[in-house]
Amino acid sequence: MHYPKSYDVIVIGGGHAGTEAALAAARMGRQTLLLTHNIETLGQMSCNPAIGGIGKSHLVREIDAMGGAMALATDHAGIQFRVLNSRKGAAVRATRAQADRILYKAAIRSMLENQPNLDIFQQAADDLIVEGDTVKGVVTQSGIRFDARTVVLTSGTFLGGIIHIGMQQSRGGRAGDPPSIALADRLRELKLPVGRLKTGTPPRIDAKSVDFSVMIPQPGDTPLPVMSFMGDVSMHPRQVNCWMTHTNLETHDIIRSGLDRSPMYTGVIEGVGPRYCPSIEDKIHRFADKDSHQIFIEPEGLNTHELYPNGISTSLPFDIQLRLVRSMKGLENAHITRPGYAIEYDYFNPQNLKPTLETKSINNLYFAGQINGTTGYEEAGAQGLLAGLNAARRAVDEESWTPSRDQAYLGVMVDDLITHGTKEPYRMFTSRAEYRLMLREDNADQRLTEAGRKLGLVSDERWAAYCEKVESIERESARLKGLWATPNNKLGMAFIAQTGEVLNRENNAYDLLKRPDVTFAQIAELTGSNVAPMVGEQIEIAVKYSGYIDRQQDDVAHLKRYEETALPVDFDYDAVSGLSREITMKLKAVRPATLAQAGRIQGVTPAAVQLLLIMIKRQG
Ligand code: FAD
Repeated sequence: MHYPKSYDVIVIGGGHAGTEAALAAARMGRQTLLLTHNIETLGQMSCNPAIGGIGKSHLVREIDAMGGAMALATDHAGIQFRVLNSRKGAAVRATRAQADRILYKAAIRSMLENQPNLDIFQQAADDLIVEGDTVKGVVTQSGIRFDARTVVLTSGTFLGGIIHIGMQQSRGGRAGDPPSIALADRLRELKLPVGRLKTGTPPRIDAKSVDFSVMIPQPGDTPLPVMSFMGDVSMHPRQVNCWMTHTNLETHDIIRSGLDRSPMYTGVIEGVGPRYCPSIEDKIHRFADKDSHQIFIEPEGLNTHELYPNGISTSLPFDIQLRLVRSMKGLENAHITRPGYAIEYDYFNPQNLKPTLETKSINNLYFAGQINGTTGYEEAGAQGLLAGLNAARRAVDEESWTPSRDQAYLGVMVDDLITHGTKEPYRMFTSRAEYRLMLREDNADQRLTEAGRKLGLVSDERWAAYCEKVESIERESARLKGLWATPNNKLGMAFIAQTGEVLNRENNAYDLLKRPDVTFAQIAELTGSNVAPMVGEQIEIAVKYSGYIDRQQDDVAHLKRYEETALPVDFDYDAVSGLSREITMKLKAVRPATLAQAGRIQGVTPAAVQLLLIMIKRQG
């Protein structure tokens, strides 16, 4: 059957990438269809129900700054919030929330169902309609044909998914869900550059069988953080503790005793696993000198007894899983509710993608999320937003939009992926960004909300709140710059008394903040400020880091020329005289979008970039 409505954008997959993609396209006014296996699993967290963390919360805030769903859903579902690295610099500070997985799904589903311009349809997509080198639509499992200008594929771990528990294997997209076999076959037929990756999850435990009295409680932070710029602590449900226990030498012996039946160690699993989220068998092997590893025991929700033991992801046989869990303090009588497992799945080399996440080989087809070799909800969501908004623009023949490396972690991630590709699951870290001080989680709105508003992604309410915040920062900064403290005037003497600092000349209150030990809270008290805490935070960071931020901005300005020099997809690298064969091959493999991206390809020298520049100038 040919479905009577033709869409601007079809998104396949209702995971973290798919939901952000569909919401973004629909927010921009495009007729959008979200086609997914099962409406009940919209926004499902396949692994740990936690959002954020180092590098990841930066992405969540960026999605939020552009009107996306993930941060608000987290504020509605978070049951334990913490600010990580709170004593370190602002650049690496990160918010993390343990979420109630049912509340999270409900929040995402409610946003999807209430989004104008968005239809949802439950069924597997089995086929892509490709005419010439352009995608035209999708055919579902039961043969329904949907036409569209653009298609965004966000199939997660489902393509050709194989689940491993010990030496037993079964087909699945994740536990309890079917894999995508027909679509995986179709993508191989289209000769897209396919590879295999693997990820894993720990067994889940029944809280009724756990002795919490011997574990270390991990309460959330006070004051309670929020994830979204539009968030409020009143949105949060009841807050609970997480807990900590440890592996021990006995645990490690049990794990070693099972390695001969481990699909990873016997070579049954071929896909490469996440280096930074290793299985417990991997950790014991790689850190053989360690006698113990921390294991966080995290609730899966408020109305369930299931617990997520963070740190023992495993695909060892079930009998070993049970013994290793029961070897830990507090878990001696633990009942496992679901076994841990590993999953192998197809992903596609992201070097085959443009900066918009459109595939280079098939026009109007976009890939986002785990399919691009990443791991994590946040990485997936951010890519979904980018692919969704670009598919929406393409559908009405508007120019693409992509963030640069100095603008967003999203820009860093996509540039890393399309430039270097990935042979193991890619996750975000703050260390991946060269302009860390500019890309903080606290200023994602100042980096992206205006762009989001121009793209049609940001609501009137969010825009008004953002403008009010920016104006408030400007007003308060000007006020502080106009308040002078001298050794003998009222403000100066109060400052000396409160802070114990030396004051031997006139300073304005704004400049006083430059002193390392002086906080905005102190200046606010001395000057009678009443701005919101997030306004004060922005002023304090701007003052204290101004020297470093200015230097980074100079670097950015210096590189801007290269970032803005486009290299056409069909650029003739063979015609550039002086380029070595090796560099020519590398450039042809990646086909970078800009001169700056060319310079970031491993092995491409500054001299080679100069040769490209000369050639471009000659052609231009
Ligand atoms: P998913 O969330 O997987 O969503 C894919 C969606 O597409 C699903 O709704 C599915 O039903 C739908 N779909 C697929 N094919 C079709 C089709 N043909 N037609 C219609 N719908 C389709 N991340 C970490 O950061 N750390 C971890 O330790 C970790 N461990 C994991 C362990 C396991 C076992 C699994 C399964 C995942 C793990 N993840 C982990 C990864 C995390 O779940 C993903 O990164 C994230 O969910 C990716 O989001 P996504 O939107 O790309 O895909």
